[in-house]
Amino acid sequence: MFKNLFTIFVVFICQQTIFAQNKYAYTLDLQNVENDQAKVFLATPPISSSTAVFQMPSVIPGSYSRKDYGRFVVDFKAFDAKGKELPVKQRDKNAFVISNANQMVRVAYRVNDTWDDSDVSNFVFQPGGSNIEADKNYSVNPHAFFGYFEGYKNLPIELRVLKPAAMYGATPLDGGRVNPTEDLFKSPNYVQFVDSPIMYCKPDTATFQVANMHVMVSVYSPKGIITAQQIKGYLEPIGAALGQFFGTLPVNHYHFLMYFAGEDIEIPEVDGLSGFGALEHSYSSFYFLPEIEMEQAIKGLVQDVCAHEFLHILTPLNLHSEQIEDFNFVKPVMSRHLWLYEGVTEYFAHLSQMRGGIITEEDFQNVIREKINGASRFKPMSFTQMSQKIVDEPYQSQYLNVYEKGMLIGLALDLQLTQLSNGKYGLRELMLDLTKKYGPNKPFADKNLIKEITAMTYPAIGKFFKSVVSGKNEVDYKKLFDIIGWEYHLSEQVEGYSFGDFGIGINGERMKLMFSQVGKNKFGLQENDILLKMNDTEVTFENAQMMFLTHIVGKKDDSPVTLTVEREGAEQTLTATPETATRTAKNVVRQNKNASSEQVKLRQFLLIGK
Ligand SMILES: [Zn+2]
Repeated sequence: MFKNLFTIFVVFICQQTIFAQNKYAYTLDLQNVENDQAKVFLATPPISSSTAVFQMPSVIPGSYSRKDYGRFVVDFKAFDAKGKELPVKQRDKNAFVISNANQMVRVAYRVNDTWDDSDVSNFVFQPGGSNIEADKNYSVNPHAFFGYFEGYKNLPIELRVLKPAAMYGATPLDGGRVNPTEDLFKSPNYVQFVDSPIMYCKPDTATFQVANMHVMVSVYSPKGIITAQQIKGYLEPIGAALGQFFGTLPVNHYHFLMYFAGEDIEIPEVDGLSGFGALEHSYSSFYFLPEIEMEQAIKGLVQDVCAHEFLHILTPLNLHSEQIEDFNFVKPVMSRHLWLYEGVTEYFAHLSQMRGGIITEEDFQNVIREKINGASRFKPMSFTQMSQKIVDEPYQSQYLNVYEKGMLIGLALDLQLTQLSNGKYGLRELMLDLTKKYGPNKPFADKNLIKEITAMTYPAIGKFFKSVVSGKNEVDYKKLFDIIGWEYHLSEQVEGYSFGDFGIGINGERMKLMFSQVGKNKFGLQENDILLKMNDTEVTFENAQMMFLTHIVGKKDDSPVTLTVEREGAEQTLTATPETATRTAKNVVRQNKNASSEQVKLRQFLLIGK
């Protein structure tokens, strides 16, 4: 194995001495992976100064947290043309300082897998990390493998991947197969390079066309439970809905790279972002999702997450501030506008499904209700201030609110624009107008955006921004929902039967339903009890909702219910009789049956788009 590596080394040196060029020529060796570490070689661009700093990113676009990818680089070495090692000092977690850099022709190091990181205090959310699982899956997020030299971030990059012949590398990068064991990809600069993940695994791909855009789905499902063809089936209607929402799509190709995690993948308990999810890029998105057989659960999850990630092609790709345009990977200056990048994206992800007929008005109301409930868990704070300081506390731990209150800010803006324009100009129209003004290479000025939106629309919109987005005030749901003839009730008393206080979640390791946030209850349930059966019927992801609606939440009589749970490895049977109780339903949203024709007209505009 080592000998094999040596051959690569020699070939490399020859190439370098003959063709030293003003570019990065990386080689990633996925043929000789040992201990979940991959070897990286770099034929360096000519450096004119005597000292060079090789920089790995601390923060990457779209992740909004400091992860220090230099932590995963091991045994970093730099060499001159004669193969002599040059002095290297590690300045901090992410920076390697090389002396006599004007002599340097190549660099070699190994990269550790982030998914296996034992330091859970700073765990990298899987879609933004790296997975090195020999002969199974290599998830290559370039920012977790490759760096750049300070002052040379804008040079072109070539990446040669030495790979097992049985694997296919799906990526939005230009280039591809040289021969069965070698791929060659190209990128114009580091910023675009790290915007393009590559997933290597046994090939399972499917393609389809949405309007002017070619879409590829690549799936890794270790047990073969989920296929690219199946995912394509879920994504085609979403694609059609998004195509209809946009009119013309702003990109002509797009990749969905999907890793379905089986039981062998450990999902550490981490504060903030953990579990399943995805990370967006300009021409792709990378997904880390559970490998479960439950068709409905997977379908809903894939549709919601994919719609969100895909909609990022609107913002930030086509609409972003200068902070994102020339991203600083070491000390990023964060934009004020997470309400836009994440909030509006999340809002459109659900609105486009509503407009495309994938979800009903009631489903949409339920999403909104869940968002209001979700937002109430976070502290009131200025969204613009939180965005700018998001990588630090106390803001970082509030990050997930960008998907809750952020989404509701999008909805509130749409409702107000709908009213003020009398059903002619909503948030979609505003966003499309902004993308005409700006674009992938034309950023807006971060500090002027709110002023600009106000000038393009109405003074009342400026007041709303000042109060709810820059300020700490809550959205006045009652007043805003009334615009489209929806009722809102902060809380309502509902008569029914109750077994007490408990929630349900997913045990990621076992892929089973699990009781969580367990309070006082009639069954004697404890935190983390795994649910196996309800009244002798096995409870699966598929039937869980129906089982809970029939026997627990929507119970219509006082007959006893028996749960079979697993607690610390042993099965337990718990039987209980419910008590009559008035339940408090929070943040209820529903149609007002007496809505005026004016309200119904505005509702049509917002929900249907015409
Ligand atoms: Zn997002």
